Amino acid sequence: MSMDPHVGDFAKGDVLIEGKKILGVGPNLHAGDAAEIDARGKIVMPGFIDTHHHQFETALRSFLADGVLIFDGTPSTAINYFQYILLTFAPVYRPEDVYISELFGGLAQLDDGVTTVHDVSQIHHSPEHSDAAIQALFDTGRRAAFGYFESAGANILGTNPGNQYPQDAIRIKRQWFSSSDQLVHMIMGNLFIHMTGMSDAAWQRTRDAGAQVSIAFPIEMNMRHGMPPIVRMQSMSTPQHPFEPSLSTDVEVTMTADFFTQMRVAMNLQRAVVNQMILDSPNGNQNLPDPRNWELPQTAVTVPGPFPYWPTPPAGIPAPLTTRDVLRYATINGAKDLGLDRKTGSLTPGKEADIILLNAEAINVAPLNQVPGAVVSLMDRTNVETVIVAGKVRKWKGKLLDVDLPHLRRQLEASRDHIFAAAHVPQNLFSSQ
Ligand SMILES: [Zn+2]
Repeated sequence: MSMDPHVGDFAKGDVLIEGKKILGVGPNLHAGDAAEIDARGKIVMPGFIDTHHHQFETALRSFLADGVLIFDGTPSTAINYFQYILLTFAPVYRPEDVYISELFGGLAQLDDGVTTVHDVSQIHHSPEHSDAAIQALFDTGRRAAFGYFESAGANILGTNPGNQYPQDAIRIKRQWFSSSDQLVHMIMGNLFIHMTGMSDAAWQRTRDAGAQVSIAFPIEMNMRHGMPPIVRMQSMSTPQHPFEPSLSTDVEVTMTADFFTQMRVAMNLQRAVVNQMILDSPNGNQNLPDPRNWELPQTAVTVPGPFPYWPTPPAGIPAPLTTRDVLRYATINGAKDLGLDRKTGSLTPGKEADIILLNAEAINVAPLNQVPGAVVSLMDRTNVETVIVAGKVRKWKGKLLDVDLPHLRRQLEASRDHIFAAAHVPQNLFSSQ
């Protein structure tokens, strides 16, 4: 499944790779004595692309599983993102805490088939913090956009006297990003994130300017950002101004950074909204006959038109999302939004080889009947068998390569212990209250 309409899909096919690059995609490619990966029984597709992730928060995973953004005056929101993550934990991070959280969170997503990330690393208390974040992105061995953003919490508190944001961007660019031919590059804003609660005028300007939007479906639903604005984007989309989001995991303090979850939640949320709009429409339930009198057609062939009790969608309601739609959001749209679509996002000759092999013979998937459906509706991390980034195998037969995970996990736990102690927050395994 190439995710490139000009390349297409193949029930049986080959992907020819030389060095970093994809040379060919199609049936029966001949490649002399090239080494071969037997992908029979696997779905071969481009890696997923996460366009907004705060990887420095990995040490705080699930701390805020019940949380919202800001205190609203009720006890249930006393533990909230602003007060705890930004104002309590983030300011006590040392450079080594930044490094291990960035590395561990990145490796975890690589294991999940997410081959590219935009790391929105708002933890630049000092140049050493910035360098630790960037070093970890390089050491992860996946494609990354280093997003250089302000340390919100520490800046409000004034607890980061070594702060060099934003002028340190010049040194960072020179020191780390002088070449464009590397896996990690730097960006400072080109992309709108969340966009919940925006005015009509702001939406209009965003679309007309051709700006990009990243939606964090599970986080926005859980943390009270507002309704993920997918239906809004769809209703504004025109052939001249196509308007589609990419997907972002945002924070693992509240939700998983797994991409199968992202795709499923995106699709389920949109379909819940659109299906209810159709059922509530003027030609919806008002003519509903008594169900005892429903006359079902004898065969599909004799159906004269829509069933009387099943409303026809009125004009203007967007179509329900398909598995193919959310796969596009999760791959090529992410590449476009990060300015990387010449390098990644689809299996296209000339692009770099960011490829995942998903096990379609596994107990939760077989028998394989429909490829986009199997990936989006059935699969999870256990199906990610092999992960290749720029032609280099990073996960092979279910195991990440070149990493000592127990060692890194112990480092992350030690970092977590330091962060909680320095922030004077007691560790409580069974509650964040
Ligand atoms: Zn965010």
